[in-house]
Amino acid sequence: MTDLTFSEWQQRAQALTFEGRAFIDGEYRDAQSAERFDCISPVDGRVLAQVASCGQADADAAVAAARRAFEAGSWSRLAPAKRKKVLIRFSELMLEHAEELALLETLDMGKPIGDSLGIDIPGSANSIRWSAEAIDKVYDEVAPTPHNELGLVTREPVGVVAAIVPWNFPLMMACWKLGPALATGNSVVLKPSEKSPLTAIRVAQLALEAGLPAGVLNVLPGYGHTVGKALALHMDVDTLVFTGSTRTAKQLLVYAGESNMKRIWLEAGGKSPNIVFADAPDLQAAASAAASGIAFNQGEVCTAGSRLLVEASIKERFLPLVVEALKGWKAGNPLDPATNVGALVDTQQMDTVLSYIEAGHAEGATLVTGGKRVLEDTGGTYVEPTIFDGVSNAMKIAQEEIFGPVLSVITFQDAEEAVRIANDTSYGLAAAVWTRDISKAHLTAKALRAGSVWVNQYDGGDMTAPFGGFKQSGNGRDKSLHAFDKYTELKATWIKL
Ligand code: NAD
Repeated sequence: MTDLTFSEWQQRAQALTFEGRAFIDGEYRDAQSAERFDCISPVDGRVLAQVASCGQADADAAVAAARRAFEAGSWSRLAPAKRKKVLIRFSELMLEHAEELALLETLDMGKPIGDSLGIDIPGSANSIRWSAEAIDKVYDEVAPTPHNELGLVTREPVGVVAAIVPWNFPLMMACWKLGPALATGNSVVLKPSEKSPLTAIRVAQLALEAGLPAGVLNVLPGYGHTVGKALALHMDVDTLVFTGSTRTAKQLLVYAGESNMKRIWLEAGGKSPNIVFADAPDLQAAASAAASGIAFNQGEVCTAGSRLLVEASIKERFLPLVVEALKGWKAGNPLDPATNVGALVDTQQMDTVLSYIEAGHAEGATLVTGGKRVLEDTGGTYVEPTIFDGVSNAMKIAQEEIFGPVLSVITFQDAEEAVRIANDTSYGLAAAVWTRDISKAHLTAKALRAGSVWVNQYDGGDMTAPFGGFKQSGNGRDKSLHAFDKYTELKATWIKL
């Protein structure tokens, strides 16, 4: 948490300087076209910075720099223990600049400063550190060969990795990719979202300061359909890793097929069910988790518990607890350390969220609380945390990812129906189960088609847990040692002795 007051954060925000240029081959550069776009703060609508609008020429330059650095070997062939040292220094520098980075994140994206400083920046630094610390402790394999042969199964860096990331946890999603990509010896071209490019641009300089050779990490801000597409179609990008919407993820698969069949690893959307059985061990805890599961980060969370599945027999008792818990989540200026719900990332996202609230009304769901834009006079994009009751799983608000603080409450009669409703979605990112019956917990967890399942909590786990989706929530996994698989090719070397 932060010791600074609201007015101290506001003063620091006024004094902050912003770097909006791309970072290529170890230096900041304007886009070759010289084009820029306004980076607007959702806190109050002010223009924070002019950001380079990169295009094909910049993608070519960044990929060429990344390739040169990879071929030179000063990073890719460095001993893992030495790469570890540089990356740990990088993560320390992020922590040394935590206040500045947190401020950039909050101003750019709208999330509460307490979250930026307490979760996003330390979580980002920790994910770099975790991969760094692991990289000199993983071994390759020797195959079970006949006596006169030696079979080596080794992992090699893939080469040039393009990483395209979203705006909801801008630095954290970038670092979930950068940690394992860099630890395994690759060069990276990182494309942050046009809605939140500032922290990625800033940390490129910190990585250089930490000792990462020029060209190993490049950052290209710009619109996805221009520079993101250029990277996805690039013939010299070996692997593309992505976090973002399912719609974009599908397009990237097409681009890979149309170009060089680059490896594609996708972390996409979600519509996660949070299942509360009548025998939940602590209904108050379940209610608090249901509230934070939809209000944290303004609901702009891929794993948001946006479908609350409640056993019918406890609905009348449980829903008031959730409503009460949600009263503790109130939209306000995210620079105020007391705020726990900030601004939505931009007016476009706010309009999307409000249009889903309209759809909820139109389809006959019952508004229980919230439902409106608030604090309009600030020029910011704030929406109240919202609950709809009487939702059927077929409704648009239950099927589509809203990516805002809008909770749909759905009832079920028994475990079988709960699982059927929970799995009746094109997504499969996460799910939660609340019950004191250990067999029901395990059987339900097994039946849920989701990459993460939480029992008697919402959103548990740390860097040791692989994170990713079933179905149209993606493929591959971020975090844990499993993430290294995405950034390495397996080689079999068979030797006759
Ligand atoms: P998005 O798909 O609109 O954009 C993601 C990134 O892709 C951005 O950098 C964008 O510029 C780029 N992009 C957009 N169109 C492109 C194109 N045609 N070619 C190449 N790049 C393109 O997603 P978003 O709105 O930034 O992020 C929200 C989404 O991210 C939600 O669906 C959320 O669930 C998902 N998300 C998933 C995870 C996860 O780990 N599974 C984590 C966070 C967010």
